[in-house]
Amino acid sequence: MESKVNISKTMWILAKKYPRSTTTLNSMRGSSTPFEILISCLLSLRTRDEVTDVVSRDLFTVANTPEKIVSLPTGKLKKIIFKTGHFNKKAEVLKSVSRDLIERFGGEVPDSYEELISIKGVGPKTANIVLAFVFGKLVLPIDVHCHRIPNRLGWIKTKTPEETERELMKILPKRFWREFNSAFVQFGREICLPVSPKCSECPVVEFCGKAGVLRSR
Ligand code: SF4
Repeated sequence: MESKVNISKTMWILAKKYPRSTTTLNSMRGSSTPFEILISCLLSLRTRDEVTDVVSRDLFTVANTPEKIVSLPTGKLKKIIFKTGHFNKKAEVLKSVSRDLIERFGGEVPDSYEELISIKGVGPKTANIVLAFVFGKLVLPIDVHCHRIPNRLGWIKTKTPEETERELMKILPKRFWREFNSAFVQFGREICLPVSPKCSECPVVEFCGKAGVLRSR
């Protein structure tokens, strides 16, 4: 059977449908400090954008620097970030990341991948988001959507987000790297859902092999 894969056409369609400014972290580019973007990214894990938005704003009104987060009583911090879920763990991470930034980086967010992932609580996805959204570097932040969808489309066959990042770097034309994360995050939230994707409404259905899709609507 002829392959349906067409990376460029798929990317053109999705990048047009989901422009970069539509995700919370993308919309923070240029208007927030590197520290605020890093903290919002940590708060956004397993949380909806609308919640990250509100909680980030509440938190930054009270504490928007590493020093202020460290000084904030843990109980108060947990209360502010409660709505994002996993608030005990997230409070712990926010405190330890802030302490690490003060102790090892003079309170500044570092601009290299190696330094970022050396901070306890900062993983590859967060590091790449900071590099892309704060420092404008050409990288591919991979979250659950960015891992799942290229596999369904038949672009790659990978088991982990790290493997996905490596494979996409080989096959995705660089002109699409800046659009890739926000387009796929939005697309994965609205149409190519983790369970039972809405294939009947999908704008790129003609280019999708639906690999691993057992049930769709
Ligand atoms: S056709 Fe279905 S599985 Fe394929 S990208 Fe679209 S929504 Fe996802």
